Amino acid sequence: MSSEPVESTTAAIRLSAKASGFARRGQPWFYGNEIEAGPLAPSRLVRVHDEGGRDLGLGFTSTSKLALRLAGPWPGDALPDREAFFHVRLQAAIERRASWLGPEDGARLVHGEADGIPGLVVDRYGKVLVLQSTSVVVEEALSAIVPFLAERLHADSVVARNDLAARKHEGLPEEVRLLHGRRIEEVTIVEHGVRHTVRPFSGHKTGFYLDQRPARALVRELAKGRRVLDLFCYQGGFSLNALAGGAVSAVAVDQSGAALQQAAAGAQANGLRGLFTHEANVFDFVREQREKNEQYDLIVLDPPAFAKSRRELEGAERGYRDLNRQALRLLAPHGFLVTCTCSHHMVLPRFEELVRQSAAGLPFRLALRQRLGAGPDHPVWITHPESEYLKVLLLQRMD
Ligand code: SAH
Repeated sequence: MSSEPVESTTAAIRLSAKASGFARRGQPWFYGNEIEAGPLAPSRLVRVHDEGGRDLGLGFTSTSKLALRLAGPWPGDALPDREAFFHVRLQAAIERRASWLGPEDGARLVHGEADGIPGLVVDRYGKVLVLQSTSVVVEEALSAIVPFLAERLHADSVVARNDLAARKHEGLPEEVRLLHGRRIEEVTIVEHGVRHTVRPFSGHKTGFYLDQRPARALVRELAKGRRVLDLFCYQGGFSLNALAGGAVSAVAVDQSGAALQQAAAGAQANGLRGLFTHEANVFDFVREQREKNEQYDLIVLDPPAFAKSRRELEGAERGYRDLNRQALRLLAPHGFLVTCTCSHHMVLPRFEELVRQSAAGLPFRLALRQRLGAGPDHPVWITHPESEYLKVLLLQRMD
């Protein structure tokens, strides 16, 4: 994994003609057989050339199957100092968000390839930064990355949430550890005026589902006077927004008792009434509700990624279809369904097709009112579809 640096200022790796075409069209990932020549020192920052020796910017090499990940253009033709590279990219990522984000405490600051840093994610929760790295190049540069971020963002704590299976492809251990400052178990962020407790060491992902911010805002907007059902609620991000937006009640369902306790604590911390938590398997719960003829005016369906790989897609599709069909049948007249998939294998047209199939045979028409995704702090790099993993549809029962 750690070989001696053999970087020269001019050495570059050269892609095959076919791969060069893909690279020019914006594809960022390449296998070993697409690299024609060059100093193939593993896991380094390299300059990349096309088949004719023309510049394609920088890249990270790796000993994994994914031998090269492009890291975007860079002026000149020399290889930058590694520290300078990371500082410039991090600074740009921070500045890019400065104009989009309001005074929220929670935001994604670095979103991997889309920010020109393959294999690095950084989320900010107030004074706590949580990062995830899936590249040896990033890992070996942490001594440059962490102090820079800590200083620029006045962080009290920087945590590595590297309990990620993807790390094994790079020969990196799965671990959660403090990289800077003091250990902070819980931090409160305020989003749209609602307080959320984030657990950097133990919460899902880096501690919170930052990516659902636009959908949380939507739920809040729609909730007034409505009976809300929050399926796969985790710590109740949607329910808290629904209640803050004037919902008469929010029924929050999850199979995790601990998550439901956190949801209840969240409602209390925000002074919100009307939360009813229900520990259950959602698949059973929706069936039982149907048998009881229960109805809801606003349903949020935000399951975990059923398709973690392409192989699992078929089973996953069945799951999404079933759940959506059941949820649609629980909608009261004029009711809304906010339905989500966070699996990047489930592309938007396919997801819409599944929802369409779920709607077949309903005794009412269904309108597609809005399409949403993650917020602007999770930029989607248009030529890298993997960066668009969250799709959210707002549907409404037409009566
Ligand atoms: N909507 C949440 C995030 C959902 S994460 C938010 O906005 O924060 C997925 C959640 O689904 C987890 O809390 C997990 O405990 C729960 N879960 C997974 N499978 C489940 C099942 N079959 N029934 C009930 N809950 C389930």
